[in-house]
Parts: sequence; structure tokens; C-alpha cells
Amino acid sequence: MTGFTLRTTLDVGAARSPGTVALVFEETELTYAELGRRVDEVAAGLDRLGFGAGDALLAVLPNCVEYVELFYAVATLGGIIVPVNYLLSPEEVRHIKVDSGAAWIVVDGSMTGLLSGIDLSGTRVIQRGDDYQALREQGVLTTRPQVAPDDVVLLQYTSGTTGVAKAAVHTHHTLMWNTVQQVVDFGVTQRDSYLCVPALCWAAGFHDFTLAAFWTGGRVTLLPSRSFDPARFGDLLVRHRVSIVVLVPSVLRIILRSGLVPAAAWDSIRLLACGGEALPVELIEEFEAALPGVWVMQCYGMTEGPMIMTYLDRDSAVRKRGSAGKAMSMTVIEIRRSDGAVADPGEVGEIVVRSPASMIGYHRAPEQTALALRDGWLRTGDNGWLDEEGYLYVAGRAKDMMISGGLNVYPAEIERVLLRHPAVREVAVVGVPHETYGEVGRAHVVVAPEAGVTPPELARHARESLAGYKVPRVWVLGAEPLPRTTSGKVLKSKLRELPKGTSDVEL
Ligand code: ATP
Ligand code: MG
Repeated sequence: MTGFTLRTTLDVGAARSPGTVALVFEETELTYAELGRRVDEVAAGLDRLGFGAGDALLAVLPNCVEYVELFYAVATLGGIIVPVNYLLSPEEVRHIKVDSGAAWIVVDGSMTGLLSGIDLSGTRVIQRGDDYQALREQGVLTTRPQVAPDDVVLLQYTSGTTGVAKAAVHTHHTLMWNTVQQVVDFGVTQRDSYLCVPALCWAAGFHDFTLAAFWTGGRVTLLPSRSFDPARFGDLLVRHRVSIVVLVPSVLRIILRSGLVPAAAWDSIRLLACGGEALPVELIEEFEAALPGVWVMQCYGMTEGPMIMTYLDRDSAVRKRGSAGKAMSMTVIEIRRSDGAVADPGEVGEIVVRSPASMIGYHRAPEQTALALRDGWLRTGDNGWLDEEGYLYVAGRAKDMMISGGLNVYPAEIERVLLRHPAVREVAVVGVPHETYGEVGRAHVVVAPEAGVTPPELARHARESLAGYKVPRVWVLGAEPLPRTTSGKVLKSKLRELPKGTSDVEL
């Protein structure tokens, strides 16, 4: 008998309530029994082709039933799944193929272009349509190979916000701890209906509630992942009486601006989690004002895991607005000074985390792993502070911090203030070199053109809430959206590289 592995999270539902619907995508609804059987069919097909323990398989797929089947089939065989973000360029996908060492690819017909620059010799490419169907016609896996809980099962590439994406290595156990933690902290049960909005290729895809809903015998509905359609989202909320949903701030904004998701559609929601990047307080307030009764739960996490490390509970939501909340039950958070000592409450330092749900390292990157994992702690590369009551405030990425005239300046704090100005749509502050101060802030602000707002007015607005040394000195105003990663995070590295422009205003 194999130990408890990812496959367990599906077997429990299949044993307890085989006739309950487990997975829904468009017109397909699969019960636990059906999903389990399909997983064993895919596993049998892969096994026949020679796929086995330790083999890595790239999944180049949009959200679809096959993705879930493959994930579990690969896990059942002791293999390693490598989700590929299909919004990346062929060059970036090539990096993932080479870096992961995967010799197996399952690809959707519409995404084969992403493989154009890849040397595919020695690689087995399975097309999602006919090839995949043939894979499923080889019978059912009868004998499951031994899989150990500490075996690697997932290489999850980070978003690449701060540079080239790195693969966080997860085992059956790290993913299962992540899942158990969500079940314990959020009381997930078989009555829950989870609408999976993120693409399954992103860390949030499987890590956020998908596995928790399966393990507890709940329902998972996949949203088509290529572009976010608010009307469709609203329909699915109603049709599946969705109780849990996870959104990133940019999607929250789309929902709000579209006006296409009526208040009544949210009736069954008990948990609306939002994270992935700083969630402006104004956005929460605007959202909650538009949808009375809906509560937005801010959370903080990362691909390296746990996927949710802290969250702000409902009772503290107003009192501690702007905080990312307290640590999850199986996660310990500390703030460290640069010499490694634990910081005092209120003092900004690096957020470090200890959890059985954290990755075991970065794939093929011993130096980066040694920097990130020390003495059982994961260094997040994010700055933050804890208040007297232990609530976390994320100050932003350590790489984004500037030192202006010898003082630390955290762009996220400035961005929060600027976003409160009615003419400001988007903002990102980066540090740029300065003769006198070493570094000063350059604010890239997307403004409503009709508002006619000027840099001095924005600087005045900032000065009302911030110390003078924090107020950006250089202003770049425009109407064009800021450059973002495929998951919607501002690419500060791009902004930082921009040369001085003729329309930059220096105050
Ligand atoms: P890369 O590591 O490749 O640069 P990334 O860090 O953006 O990319 P993810 O793992 O998707 O990749 O994102 C995790 C990061 O997102 C965190 O380290 C943090 O910087 C940011 N983040 C997540 N949640 C929050 C939050 N609630 N508030 C502020 N920042 C957040
Ligand atoms: Mg990161």
C-alpha cells in the first residue's frame, strides 16, 4: 500500500460519495467515480507509453477536464507535472522545457505554436484531441506503482515578476499540507462549491481550494481560462451555487467596472479570497459598497508555498483594513532584520515563513535554494511588519525598496496613498538613481485623461499623508496601462529600466 499521496485527495471522494459531482467544465459533469475512472484510464495510457516514476510532463493546456485528469494520472504514476503558462512567449516556454528536463508534453491544438522554438527530438508530444483520446482507450490502471509522500510531483514556475521564472519544487506532502491547511482554516466541506477562476497552470490553479474541494468531496467548477468574462462568471456563480472563489485584484476591478455580475449572484458565496499582489483598501471598499453583504478576504501567499500564508479574518476585516492578516494554522511568520534577528512589532524587515507546505527548493538552482531556504525557514523576498497583535502588513518586495537620503522607502505605501486620488487609475513607484539622495521615487501614474491632473497636485496629495522624503520626485503621467505579467502584476523591472523620458516631470 502506498502512503498518503495526492491521489488520496481524489480517492476519499470516490469511496465516500461516488455519485456526487466532482468536476464541472462547460457541458461536462463528472462524478467522483467517473473522474477516478478517467484518471486511471489516462494513467494506464501513459504507463503503456512508458511514462513512469520521476518523469516530467509539460501540460500546455487551458482549463479543461483533461488537465485535472492528467494532474492526478501523473501523480498516481509517481511522475512530475509541469504546468506551462500558455500566455508566455515561445522563448519562455522553451526555457521551461529545457530547465525542467521534461520529455513529455500534452498540448492543446490551439497552443502548439508555443512549442515552435523547441527541439522536440526525444520528446513525446500528445495532442489534446485524438492522441489524448487514444491514450484513454488502453484500459484502466489496475496496479498502482509505489509512490512516496516525499516524491516530487510538481514543478511550479513562479510568475517571473522579478526576473526569470524559477520552478518551485513541490512534493505530494507539501501540496497535501497546503490543502489540509485550507480545509482546517476555512472549514471546507463536501457542501462547498468552488469556482476555479485562475488558470490551472498558475500556482493558484490547483493549490487554491481545488485540491481542498476534491479532498472533502465538494464540487469544482472550472472557468474557461483564456479571458475573464464577467457575465459568464456571474452565471456560474448562480448555476453552481458557488461558495468559494479566489480572485486577483485586477479581476476584482474588472468585475466592478463591468457591472455584469449582479449582487444576487453572490448570495451563495461564503469566501471571496483576494491576493497575489497588494489589494488596495479603496478597491475593497468600493467592491463592498457595490455589493452589500459580500466580504473580500485579503490573503498573502506565494508559489513557493504555502499558497495562502496569511489571511485577514472577517472579524478583523474593518479594524485591520490594509493588513494581510494572520498566519494560517500550519504556517509561522516572522519578520527578520538584515542580520537575521527577529524584528520588533512595527519594524519593517523581511517576511520569513516556516510551514510543511513550503517547497523543498528551486529546481536545478542550488544557489537560489540556499538563499531562499535557511534553517527550515523560507525567505519570501518580501518586506513587511507585524503590529502589536501579530497582524501582517506587506510593505512590498525587498527588491522594490528604495533608500532615499539614507532612509528606507517602501513603494507600496506610496502607491496606496496615490490610488486614493480620484484621477488615478493605476500607479507604480520605482526607485531611480539621484545625485544627492542616492535614490528617489519615480511614480508612473495612469490617469483619467479628462481629469487634467498635474504632477504638483499629485505630489501635494501624497504629502498630505506621507513624510516629505517618501514623496516621489519624478512623475510620469499617461493614459496607457502599466506593463504587467500575464497574471496581472505590474512589471516593475520593465519600468525601472525605462530611460528618462522627455515628458517626465521632476519636482
Ligand atoms: P517571481 O518570484 O518570479 O518574481 P512572483 O513573486 O510574482 O514572481 P508569485 O509566487 O505568483 O510569483 O507571487 C508571490 C508574490 O506576490 C509574493 O512574494 C508577494 O510579493 C506578492 N503578493 C502575494 N500576495 C500579496 C498581498 N496580499 N499583498 C502584497 N503582495 C502580495
Ligand atoms: Mg516570487
